Amino acid sequence: MVTLDRDGLIAAIECKDPAFNEALRQEAFRTKVAHIGTEVYLRGLIEISNICRKNCLYCGIRRDNASCARYELSDAEVLAAAARAARQRFGSVVIQGGERTDAAFVRKITRLVKAIKQIETDSEGGRPLGITLSLGEQPREVYEEWFEAGAHRYLLRIETSNPDLYHRIHPQDSQHSFERRMEALLDLKAIGYQAGTGAMIGLPYQTAADLADDLLFYKRFDAPMIGMGPYNPNDETPLTLSGAPYPSDAERLELGLKMIALLRLLMPDINIASATALEVLSPRGRELGILSGANVFMPNVTPDEQMVKYNLYDRKTLLRDRPHPGESLFADSLGESLRNGRITIGFGRWGDSKHFTASKP
Ligand code: SAH
Ligand code: SF4
Repeated sequence: MVTLDRDGLIAAIECKDPAFNEALRQEAFRTKVAHIGTEVYLRGLIEISNICRKNCLYCGIRRDNASCARYELSDAEVLAAAARAARQRFGSVVIQGGERTDAAFVRKITRLVKAIKQIETDSEGGRPLGITLSLGEQPREVYEEWFEAGAHRYLLRIETSNPDLYHRIHPQDSQHSFERRMEALLDLKAIGYQAGTGAMIGLPYQTAADLADDLLFYKRFDAPMIGMGPYNPNDETPLTLSGAPYPSDAERLELGLKMIALLRLLMPDINIASATALEVLSPRGRELGILSGANVFMPNVTPDEQMVKYNLYDRKTLLRDRPHPGESLFADSLGESLRNGRITIGFGRWGDSKHFTASKP
């Protein structure tokens, strides 16, 4: 139903016909099930710190946002969150946070990666937790140190594959360079990480052609996993304050789901995350992401007190990813699709991308 070349992708992205969009999502869901099954892999998301040395114009935890109350989880808090993820049989964790390159932080991550590997699990014969890091651009030696410590996946979004748009949504200085970001992605891949990337969807100034180019970029980069999601405004950021228009909530939700669907058709066996940012736009946002072709779900295991301070964008509600008495773990977030069996959960599975495994000798 869609030609997967640039023109076909642009036409699909621009199409506002609800019947077409629904049929596209259904086709992507069928493609996913045919290639990788109904199973959704879990990654417990640990938001380690909202301290950041960068100043991305769209991000609520940017360095110059004086009204952001900063925090950093202690080693004990991170390990408790990882242990909680292991107890709930999530199989993997993601450690995400603001970008920091100071020696104390680098060593802390190395120490924590090693310690998380020691946490007992009942996954696949006691296999330790899988670890994804998402801690921004780092010197190659740091990526190597963390890889040797035991991290094996890294998520670094390109944010947009259009260098001009990249420059419009970042300060014009050497700390925010498209070329440097690209180089960091290549470093990650060369070291042996499963290097995931992604972009924001529905940004000010972004065109349908930009979004089509993002999809083609993922394909060219041969990414084993993609974590992309809607842009959501944060009222304290220069990008929101500039008044530059961007698509409505309903449009960004539709676009976010459509990008997942198109990517699934383009790359049938990769891991695609259903972004938290979808949940801001609909209470069923992440479930809809999975029904549109995503296969990775990241329950937030950050303590509540800090989670509310990790305001990349304005969060309307606290994510309800905690188990409730008498209810199944994902009753809120995945409920209906779990009950009718369209989604099954890969408890205790690392959930490496089939694409990545298939490409290894
Ligand atoms: N500092 C690291 C990781 C934390 S930020 C990094 O930048 O790579 C993780 C992601 O949050 C970013 O890649 C960006 O795509 C996303 N993000 C930041 N502000 C956002 C916003 N206003 N709306 C949607 N996503 C946002
Ligand atoms: Fe920092 Fe990442 Fe936010 Fe940029 S997007 S300001 S690097 S946390």
